[in-house]
This record gives sequence, structure tokens and C-alpha cells, in this order.
Amino acid sequence: MKALFVLILISLAFSGYQPSGLINNISTTQRIVFLTFDDGPKTGVTEPLLKILASENVKATFFLVGDNMAKYPDLVEMIFAQGHDVSNHTYDHIRLDNLDGDDLDYQLQETNRVIVDIIGKSPRLFRPPGGRFNNIILETLGKYGLIPIGWAINTSDYIEGVNVHLSAAAIQTKVNEVMGAVRANLHPGAIILMHNGNEIGIQALPIVIQYVRSQGYQFKRLSDVL
Ligand SMILES: [Zn+2]
Repeated sequence: MKALFVLILISLAFSGYQPSGLINNISTTQRIVFLTFDDGPKTGVTEPLLKILASENVKATFFLVGDNMAKYPDLVEMIFAQGHDVSNHTYDHIRLDNLDGDDLDYQLQETNRVIVDIIGKSPRLFRPPGGRFNNIILETLGKYGLIPIGWAINTSDYIEGVNVHLSAAAIQTKVNEVMGAVRANLHPGAIILMHNGNEIGIQALPIVIQYVRSQGYQFKRLSDVL
């Protein structure tokens, strides 16, 4: 019993938190996976991520925050022009499970409006901040034709806080953790969660791409299958 408990703890530590009620995997036997990048656009981080994706010829899905898009529309245009999915991640990046009515509508509708303003096209995919989700959110998403997306592999490529200084050693430790999560959980149809966060994701991304390809997998956008 105790051994089982320890095993559960270990597997939780490797897989990280996975949201419920969302699409966390695409059902397939093909060796395909989906890179997703949350919380952008963020100047100084989105550009290098895009550069890596372009040089590796990988297309991905970006879940973008309305307020950030309004500040950096040029970055949203770049993401779209390079063939990635531009998707909704709320306007203010707040937990939606405490909201209802107009406040909930605003977070979805206003973000869609900003996306249409910039790229001339409504998003189809949505990811709730923190994966916090419930039936009220699900019903409201239906009004806007948005599909709720979670993740299967949480790379934890992120440290809370603004402008946190990370030593090279601290970055390396986190990059190793990212790779540990990917190695332990890679499977057909997995949706991989990364962020427009900081140096950790930028340094980890080429290693993630190389490892995933070495296992015979290809990358797709979620819009390719949904
Ligand atoms: Zn987020």
C-alpha cells in the first residue's frame, strides 16, 4: 500500500498537474505531438522561440493573452505569418472558474476581438489559465465556437514572477526537468505545454525538438487535427 502511494507520488511528480474536462491528448496511433506555447506574446521571448521553430521547420499552437496582444500586435502578426495557430488564452490571464456572466464573456469575447483585429480571423482553440475549467466555461465557449484545450505533458518551463534572474546553473537544472517530463510522458497525440516565459523555454526548445524527433515523432499544429 505504502509502495503504491509512493509510486503515485512519483508519477504525479513526473507528469505534473493535468487539467480535467479539456482535450489533453489527440486520439491517434500516429507518432505525432503538439507543441503549445502559453502566455505570450512577450517581447524578448516570443522572437527567439519563433526563430527556433522556423529554423527547425516546426509549426506550433500559441495560446495568447488579449492584453499582451494589444501591446504587441506585431508579434501576433509574426506568429500568424510564420504559420502557427493564434489561439485564445483569455484577456487578462485570470482564473475563469471564479467568473460567470458578463465577466466570463468578456474574457473570451474581448480576446477574440483583439485576434480578429490583428490577423482578420477568429480563433477556434482556447486554453483556460492554469487549466481551471468547469461546465459554465464549457457552455460559454460554445457560444464563441471555441474548443477547450489542456495538456498531456507539462514541461514546467516556467518560474513565477516578473524579470526573475536565473543563473546559468538554475536554467540548466530547469532544462533538465523539462527534458525529464518530456522523456517520461512522450506518447502519440500528446499535447505539450510550454510558455512564452523566459530563458528556460528558449534553451529547452531545441533539445525538446531534437529528442522528440529522435523518437520518430513529428510535430503538428492542433488546427491540423481539430
Ligand atoms: Zn497561462
